[in-house]
Amino acid sequence: MAATELETYAAETAGCTRCRLAETRTQVVFGVGNPEADLMFVGEAPGFHEDKQGFPFVGQAGKLLDRLLEGIGLSRADVYITNTLMCRPPGNRDPMPDEIQSCEPHLFKKIALIEPRIVATLGNFATKLLSGKQTGITRVHGQEQQTTIGGRDVLLYPLYHPAAALYTPATLKVLEEDFRRIPELLGRAVAPEPEPLPAETLATSEPAVQLGLF
Ligand code: URA
Repeated sequence: MAATELETYAAETAGCTRCRLAETRTQVVFGVGNPEADLMFVGEAPGFHEDKQGFPFVGQAGKLLDRLLEGIGLSRADVYITNTLMCRPPGNRDPMPDEIQSCEPHLFKKIALIEPRIVATLGNFATKLLSGKQTGITRVHGQEQQTTIGGRDVLLYPLYHPAAALYTPATLKVLEEDFRRIPELLGRAVAPEPEPLPAETLATSEPAVQLGLF
């Protein structure tokens, strides 16, 4: 069901002209993978190779993503991979705010059709867009947050962008560590709300955070 609807949406958006990137792209890079995946990755934007081949993450960063997936027993066929932007910014420059805004409905529609339980954002652009917060990836990576996207509860899991880890061993180590938590998150994504504690337990329990220390 999701597969057919996703294919229809891909066909509808193949000629998208919502922003200036339509003039310079080779083709729209819609996304790839399991249309009913529990885990969806959202990167930044297609690069040179993605623009030529029509699939996300097929260059060096993509090879690293494949390796990271393999490390937790998954493959591309198990997850869905897409980007914040569906078209390549010329010269691989950063996406512009109006381009992100123009492409946002496409991303939200894909999330609505796929209905993932976890959306793992790769890098700053996807993380800021989907968290609705300006906090950078250095501060939020590896910290899952329950959020609502298009009226649906999802677990947002910010990760460093694989391209940032390609030549920086310390970033790679952190990315690998954050990846290793994915299986656990898949087991407990969108857990039911805990029962409220009885009043007497609340009154006697230690404060969760010692105010003043942070
Ligand atoms: N970087 C991204 O963010 N996405 C791709 O598809 C390729 C490289």
